[in-house]
Amino acid sequence: ISLSNTTLNQLSVEHPQYDRTALTPGIAHIGVGNFHRAHQAWYLHRLMQAGEAHDWAIIGAGVRPYDAAMREKLLAQDCLTTLVELDPENVSAEVVGSMIDYLPIEEGNAPLIAQMADPAIRIVAMTVTESGYYIDPVTKGFDAAHPDLLHDAAHPDTPRTAFGALVAALKLRRAAGHAPFTGLSCDNLQGNGDILRQTVVSLARLSDPELADWIDANATFPNSMVDCIAPVTGPKELALAHDFGIKDPALVTHEAFRQWVIEDKFCAGRPAWDTVGVTFSDDVHAFETMKIRILNAGHQVIANVGETLSIETIAGCMAHPAIRNFFGKVERNEIAPTVAPVPGKTPAAYVDLIEARFSNPRIVDTTRRVAFDGSARHTGFVLPILRDQLAAGRSVSGLALVEALWARMCAGTREDGSVIEANDPIWAELNAAALEAKEQPTAWLDQSNIYGDLRDAELFRDAFCRWLTMIWDQGCIPAMNEYIAFDRQ
Ligand code: NAD
Repeated sequence: ISLSNTTLNQLSVEHPQYDRTALTPGIAHIGVGNFHRAHQAWYLHRLMQAGEAHDWAIIGAGVRPYDAAMREKLLAQDCLTTLVELDPENVSAEVVGSMIDYLPIEEGNAPLIAQMADPAIRIVAMTVTESGYYIDPVTKGFDAAHPDLLHDAAHPDTPRTAFGALVAALKLRRAAGHAPFTGLSCDNLQGNGDILRQTVVSLARLSDPELADWIDANATFPNSMVDCIAPVTGPKELALAHDFGIKDPALVTHEAFRQWVIEDKFCAGRPAWDTVGVTFSDDVHAFETMKIRILNAGHQVIANVGETLSIETIAGCMAHPAIRNFFGKVERNEIAPTVAPVPGKTPAAYVDLIEARFSNPRIVDTTRRVAFDGSARHTGFVLPILRDQLAAGRSVSGLALVEALWARMCAGTREDGSVIEANDPIWAELNAAALEAKEQPTAWLDQSNIYGDLRDAELFRDAFCRWLTMIWDQGCIPAMNEYIAFDRQ
């Protein structure tokens, strides 16, 4: 059965019990990837199933030309999505219906701006990837020199970026006497709300300082911590729909774990998400630190070496003894010590949880996806831990090996000789540095946009150089085994 409003009642899996034609929009979401539909769209769907939030439906949007393909797929099925939950013990499916439209993707983003200017939209949410925020990796500040932002500053009514579109819509709202919306980042960035505020306000300031002040004073940008692994959909995942009698080319698979912790700062109201498992907290930072350090940095610990050793998935990495032991040791010895407990969870218990989640063989989360965008992920997730460990005078040997394994991967060939395709927005630079570092390891650390002053931290630099030399001489596995054995002494 193909998905549509008219075929819903023929489905054998759980599906919307609410009248979708009566839903009205409340949220515009930019970046309708897999994660958004497995996470935010699902929470809203739960509320709608309970008879709530029918005036908060999602309007999907994108600012990239390639989003048009997803738009077509979703519009063809009334914006319904099949979510397949991959519990290690049991695979189940449900169809969620909280999204009701997907805006046309146009240069200049007029449809998106008009939608966000409509006061019915009270939240503008986004998942545009970690590297989508135009942050200078070292200063963490707004990268005002980026050509996209220069364009949006010069052409504020026909912007290219999501943030330019937000600014243009907020300008229209202000001019019409409407209140602003809440900007809700759902990307894996520490302080994602603060970063979104910084990007939007700084961009507005380049073209209209008064507007920037108005946004800063009146709009809210809550920080949020999001969690649920949603792999890329490939043929294997698409085939799963068949088992449930559904035809869905936009299906999403995900693990049986979700978490969403948000600051309760919504300037124009919000759905009652707290009744469907969302945690509202003034200390999102603590939850986020635990997750970003143990889960997201943990992903970087294993994905680069997994890619280099031709291991296709994260679960495959966890089934590899050297990688599993390497992961466990770095997490427990060098990552967990930098993390404080949160209500209900110690860092040690969280490491155990992540080890189990990563090991789920049903989750075909590719090492390639997880290794993608390393320049943002290492700087965002791994290097802050390294800095903390150095400041506390504790070991960074395992973290230095993590960086050396990344440098090895960026050389662009696997240990079996096959080619690793570009998988970073700055792949060309990374690849050049990685090839140079094969002979001269410090060449990798000379990338000051990534390492900044870490290059001069002797403890880190010496360990890094030793590991990278060993990796090129002997291979990744002996290096990991050396680290594991060395630490047992
Ligand atoms: P995806 O590739 O399925 O979708 C990404 C979406 O972002 C697409 O719509 C794409 O067009 C858009 N996008 C990419 N770069 C952009 C840019 N510069 N400006 C505007 N839009 C841009 O990816 P996904 O799995 O949905 O993940 C998206 C983000 O969600 C991640 O980067 C991460 O921050 C967060 N997240 C993902 C997961 C997961 O398991 N997939 C888990 C937690 C958080």
